[in-house]
Amino acid sequence: MKDFFRKAKTLIPGGVNSPVRAFKSVGGVPFYVDRADGAYLKTVDGRELIDFVCSWGAIIHGHNSLEIREAVIQSLERGTGFGAPHEKELEMAELIRKHYPSMKKVRMVNSGTEATMSAIRLARGFTNRSKILKFSGCYHGHADSFLIKAGSGAMTFGCPDSLGVPASFVNETIVIPFNNEVVLAQTIERFSDELACIIVEPYPANCGLILPKPGFLKKIEVLAKKFKILLVFDEVITGFRVSLGGAQALEDIQPDLTTLGKIIGGGLPIGAFGGREDVMDFLAPEGPVYQAGTLSGNPICLAAGIAAIKLLEANPSIYDQIERRVEFLKKSLSQTAKEKGIPLQIPHKKTLFSLSFSDKPIENYETALSISTDLFSKVFHSSLNNGLFLAPSPFECCFLSASHTDPIIAKAADILSKSLE
Ligand code: PLP
Repeated sequence: MKDFFRKAKTLIPGGVNSPVRAFKSVGGVPFYVDRADGAYLKTVDGRELIDFVCSWGAIIHGHNSLEIREAVIQSLERGTGFGAPHEKELEMAELIRKHYPSMKKVRMVNSGTEATMSAIRLARGFTNRSKILKFSGCYHGHADSFLIKAGSGAMTFGCPDSLGVPASFVNETIVIPFNNEVVLAQTIERFSDELACIIVEPYPANCGLILPKPGFLKKIEVLAKKFKILLVFDEVITGFRVSLGGAQALEDIQPDLTTLGKIIGGGLPIGAFGGREDVMDFLAPEGPVYQAGTLSGNPICLAAGIAAIKLLEANPSIYDQIERRVEFLKKSLSQTAKEKGIPLQIPHKKTLFSLSFSDKPIENYETALSISTDLFSKVFHSSLNNGLFLAPSPFECCFLSASHTDPIIAKAADILSKSLE
């Protein structure tokens, strides 16, 4: 394992193709995966790990699902990519619109970052305003405008979160705390003429899991409408993960634009953004806002994503089934933590939860900073040694899939309880 990583460091910056994979926030050396099946990752040195990362939320049916694999193989037999229109694009757009009625028109892209980046350009073009409003701790991908208090990956850095982000970009992004209606109203009133959009993760899942206080998301919707600022729901994580219709269905909110990713690719690279018809028609080739992609709408990714969504449609109770398992874990771990006097919060929404070592509920980025990163690292390594892979950062969420059956969850609870002890 060490040899692989040592070699990787000579070939790939930091040895990884996405920073969090390098284990920097928990220490140690990352394992190498040979294959993944169901709830398990199998490492090159023959270990089996219960996977609570699920490809950062993209996997909801378990790894290597038969239906998704078959859809990919069938699609592959007809070619790897066309660079021209094909039927699956219609099927995917229809499926998305069926479950996200606010997304009257949809454009496919290749990642969540592309989706959010394109959505804000469109919002700027449509409103002819340049500023965007985001919430601290929310991560919207790695485009320049978003890397300011952007949650997990960059939480240890200052502001902006990355070198290379020009100050002029930072000036166009206003950042305020989540769950604070007073600051929200004051900021929107002050910048109303300059704000193109408000972008928000409805259930911020990049500095632990933060749940909105009752009425907070509605308040954003009402103020955005009042001042004709576009509301962008970033549902890259929550889309198809907290319900078929995402957070907007659970919260009864109609954003102007929505971004999706992860689950809609069935584990393959994908992203999508969509929304109001008048706004989406501002995109090239109909309108003046340019956006394009050589591989956008790739048939194999769409085949995998369509299969994943159809599996969800065939079993809509999946969300409640998985949530019951999350609740079981939560109960068992909270009990152990209480007995041992360990401060632990386990906020959850359906199939998504976080282990936040803090004695205060995590209401926003500012309270998320109180999490004990030390305790998390200890629990992370102890769990890994005993066969459970948690996300290698105290600020990331855990994701379960339909393959995480009751016995597997009981085993995971056991491993985590021992780690807490
Ligand atoms: N938006 C949210 C809420 C995310 O969590 C992420 C990634 O985790 C992104 C956007 C960016 O997606 P991607 O990593 O596919 O570029």
